Amino acid sequence: MRLLIVEDEKDLANVMKKGLQEQSFTVEAAYDGNEGLYMAENYEFDAIILDIMLPGMDGLTLLKKLRTSGRTVPVILLTARGDVEDRIAGLNIGADDYLPKPFEFSELLARLRAVIRRNKGHSASLLALGDLEVDVNAHEVTRDGREIHLSAKEYMILEYFLLNIGRIISRSELIAHVYGTDFDLDSNVIDVYINYVRNKVDKGFTKKLIHTVRGSGYIMKQG
Ligand code: CA
Repeated sequence: MRLLIVEDEKDLANVMKKGLQEQSFTVEAAYDGNEGLYMAENYEFDAIILDIMLPGMDGLTLLKKLRTSGRTVPVILLTARGDVEDRIAGLNIGADDYLPKPFEFSELLARLRAVIRRNKGHSASLLALGDLEVDVNAHEVTRDGREIHLSAKEYMILEYFLLNIGRIISRSELIAHVYGTDFDLDSNVIDVYINYVRNKVDKGFTKKLIHTVRGSGYIMKQG
């Protein structure tokens, strides 16, 4: 899952980035409002963490521009503690949630996962397809009750598939969401990882869950 952090306090941005990367997110950071808007308009993200007080363009203006242009990416606003006006303005413009500074990293993580799930139409922290279950908080994967061990990259691929059940996902979309913009687009590498995931998830089961769509990419579905 790929995130954008727009935050001009570089220390805070980098702490969040590092922590979220450790939780298997791919994270890009922008340090002012204009750069943030450019990134948000030109790349795909699964959620945006957006500070309100930013140089260049403030967070509320940035959010308004995104929503006006029809982008529904979930946005969590970072607000100054006690600033009720900003929170109300933010929610009215289309923020999905807000977090007053200073905050605990664990709360950011929980809120982030919640807005991403809601945006994709899931409400529980358990993603499932048939007998495959993924606990997104614990990163635990089981099929037919048996635990499956995945590497961090394999987990990121499977989680992205499960959040997009029934939709064809191209290799380039998967690379963008799993590796981010810095990655040199080599679809052979992604195919190798997907094969690892398929071997662990589907091998030995009659019902395959990950399917190749010739010329287009992959789709996760039953049968
Ligand atoms: Ca700021």
